[in-house]
Amino acid sequence: MKSDSEGIVRVGLIGFGTVGRAFARVLTREAADLTLRRGVSLSLAAVGTRRADTKRDPGLGTGVRWTEDLASVATDPGVDLVVELLGGIEPANGLIRAALGAGKSVVTANKMLLARHGTDLQNLAREKSGGLGIEAAVAGGIPILRALRSSFTGDRVTAVSGILNGTCNFILTEMEATGRSYADVLADAQRLGYAEADPASDVEGDDAAYKLALLARLAFGRDVSVDQIAREGITRLLPCDFVYAKRLGRTPRQLAVARVAPSGHLLLSVRTHLVSETSLLAKVIGPFNAVEVRGESGGPFVFSGRGAGGEPTATAVLADVVEIARGGASAAPPLGFASLEACTPATADEFVSPFYLRFVVRDRPGIIADLARILADHGANIEAVFQAPYEDKSALPFVVTLEPVSGRALAAALAAIGSLDFHVVPPLALPMTE
Ligand code: NAP
Repeated sequence: MKSDSEGIVRVGLIGFGTVGRAFARVLTREAADLTLRRGVSLSLAAVGTRRADTKRDPGLGTGVRWTEDLASVATDPGVDLVVELLGGIEPANGLIRAALGAGKSVVTANKMLLARHGTDLQNLAREKSGGLGIEAAVAGGIPILRALRSSFTGDRVTAVSGILNGTCNFILTEMEATGRSYADVLADAQRLGYAEADPASDVEGDDAAYKLALLARLAFGRDVSVDQIAREGITRLLPCDFVYAKRLGRTPRQLAVARVAPSGHLLLSVRTHLVSETSLLAKVIGPFNAVEVRGESGGPFVFSGRGAGGEPTATAVLADVVEIARGGASAAPPLGFASLEACTPATADEFVSPFYLRFVVRDRPGIIADLARILADHGANIEAVFQAPYEDKSALPFVVTLEPVSGRALAAALAAIGSLDFHVVPPLALPMTE
């Protein structure tokens, strides 16, 4: 690892937002202790940010060069390691490439960029002999990528899944606790800083899909693309879903799942599942994350903790910086495998699960008979029908649970059911997971 003449690794930070600012503070706070106790000397040499004059933080010391010219940090001869905390594809991608091209190591928390271009960046880092740290890109402060890269190499992973989006988990657990609507709870989450002004990437499943693509590459060594991950958000859940879920001894959780199907292909999805109230995932509350890893020989192992937020994420960034500065990061490639196999996703035929179907209908005689006939025509067996005593017969919610059925058969049945005339909102189908 490069350093200055005194052996100090000089860090250039690009991006001074939630995580960038926290990282700069944690690095400054911990630098002396890292030198004394870990034998790694680090200094913050430069910060690249918009409006550098207004953002300048004297608490970070006088030796820091503040600039609005981000590219000058990426190629600064006085910087040995670049930390990219902008987010998004460009200019982050170009800046990381410039830094690696200039012989520097890079640490980034940029899940979107790594999900789209991580393999190219890994190859470039290897070609240029630079370190590439990516731990903070998945589940913030939870050290799950490092565990997959090193601790699970002795096993063959069969499934990696979890709660990867704190915004969704906050909204679902608040809806469960308070009985309020999605829109109400989202407004609260935005006020409390748990949801962005534009929450689409979180609540529609894209953010979790970026993280799942990275987890799946590290777990299975396959070149999983974000576009191969089926996604369904949490926006269609209604307060009645929490009432019915409770009657079933379950609760809704937005899960990202990558699992080896019987064909050997990967089942990849981000969607809401009804998990058992007694499961570990049901105990993950608010903005927390959890990741479960199963192997042929070991597991399940569950890692849980703060999956987002400035300081928890900054500590994961700093851990990568320390690892690279110690020269330890070159032993294993950031994505865990030297080369990735092509990924063929499994089809919906291979996703077999009991399902919860929720309908909201304008009540009339014969609705259950119509549903039962179509479901039977598609080979789906009804397990139970639930109808809580709701007053409004013009928008009556009820639930049908199904014995295990394939995703393909269910989709065909729901397409036929969707054309019936009594729906107030489209039916909702949630797998019921152990
Ligand atoms: P953020 O608060 O929005 O900060 C991003 C910073 O980058 C802002 O200071 C922004 O400047 C700057 N920036 C963005 N585009 C720029 C451009 N084109 N030119 C100059 N400056 C630009 O984001 P964050 O939450 O810190 O996230 C940073 C990275 O960490 C992202 O990749 C994110 O996915 C990842 N991450 C975040 C968390 C978390 O909890 N926040 C957790 C895990 C991973 P302005 O302030 O001027 O807009």
